Amino acid sequence: MSSPRFAFFGNHELSAIFRGRSVPIELADGAIKSGMPWVPTNVCLSASNTIPPDNPFGPMGETRLMPDPKRRITLPKREGRPAMDVYLADITEPDGSFWEACGRSQLKRALKDLEAAGYKLKVGFEHELYINGLTEISAPAYSLPGSRAVAELASEVLDTLATAGAGLDQFMSEFGQHQFEVSSPVRGALKGADEAVFTREVIRDAALARGLRATFAPKPDLSQAGSGVHIHMSLWDTHGAPVTGAHDAPTPVAGAFAAGILRQIEAVMAYTAPTPNSYDRIAPSSWVGAFNCMGVKNREAAIRFVPRAADKDGNNPAASMEYRLTDGSANPYLTLAALIRAGLAGIGDQLATPVGVDQDPATLSDEERAARGIRRVPSSLAQVLDAAEPLAAAWFGETFWRAYRSVRRNEINDAAKSADYGAQLARVI
Ligand code: GLU
Ligand code: MG
Repeated sequence: MSSPRFAFFGNHELSAIFRGRSVPIELADGAIKSGMPWVPTNVCLSASNTIPPDNPFGPMGETRLMPDPKRRITLPKREGRPAMDVYLADITEPDGSFWEACGRSQLKRALKDLEAAGYKLKVGFEHELYINGLTEISAPAYSLPGSRAVAELASEVLDTLATAGAGLDQFMSEFGQHQFEVSSPVRGALKGADEAVFTREVIRDAALARGLRATFAPKPDLSQAGSGVHIHMSLWDTHGAPVTGAHDAPTPVAGAFAAGILRQIEAVMAYTAPTPNSYDRIAPSSWVGAFNCMGVKNREAAIRFVPRAADKDGNNPAASMEYRLTDGSANPYLTLAALIRAGLAGIGDQLATPVGVDQDPATLSDEERAARGIRRVPSSLAQVLDAAEPLAAAWFGETFWRAYRSVRRNEINDAAKSADYGAQLARVI
């Protein structure tokens, strides 16, 4: 690999686009030390680069892109393009202090509050994606030819992720034609979200270099399977002991965390399913999790509890709660921050573990669902924004909410103006 000529410093902003500045490599150290000026309104751009007319920043103000020197990846040299160092950055106030509209900073803050309550969160991200432009016409789902179609790209992705100390546990062919799934190793929540950003960018970059286009959009083609992001969450105490599962069931604390999320699922979805295209994916009986319930190994529940092997005391040290109602149009930092905010409230209120659902909730009658407190999750972005509003200032602050709400409303307008919004989003997400 030849040496990088430029370093790029980016932040994964409110429309889940990684935007930033690049500087010649010899200026990188200075940029890391002092940060770079950044226009506040930039975090409010939509996926198709429109500016919300009601965003709180307008032409005014100044923030700073503050790189995290520990989060660097090196993209390989390609025909016509030198190698490039890419750093993740927070957006801060000019003096380096917390700025509400930065998702990565919001996650750090939520993790501090979770830790003050006695817990740490680990996550394992699974991303589904399509790779458009492959010449193989039909490889059966999950098949060897399906995997071989992208084996060369996948190997390069592994090599590139390794430059950041990251990797993948799987790169497999998924159900849809030219749909794939990548699973990332379990990490502390911040590192997991950082590596999710690297994974998306590296796969997009490797695809583009081959004349292909990778897309993490939730439903690029209405006639094909959707692409979800599934997040396996586990809680750990501050001594590093796992506290998520015992006797093949959630522990009381994990149950309360899950119950808190399910109680406020509509508000949580404002962050985890944030584009109109997210709601093209979320449908009952399509393995998405369109009901606010939890079930052991149930892929139609918003949270699938996965116990994995028990130890000799009956504990399930590798248990996880898989949150299924998110996708690649969501900012992973805000997604985790919202899950923590709702889950932490569930722990605070000592909510009871949700009663497990062991069938597709769509097959229950309306009366049975009502009796068990199971709700169909909303089917539009407008509905979840209304649900998020009353909680937003307490979760993330007033300025954050004014910015975020303007971005999401603008996305609704962008979608209404486009004849083929899913495909449009799939070109950038
Ligand atoms: N593609 C499905 C989704 O949109 C998930 C399929 C699976 O369980 O892997 O979430
Ligand atoms: Mg899958």
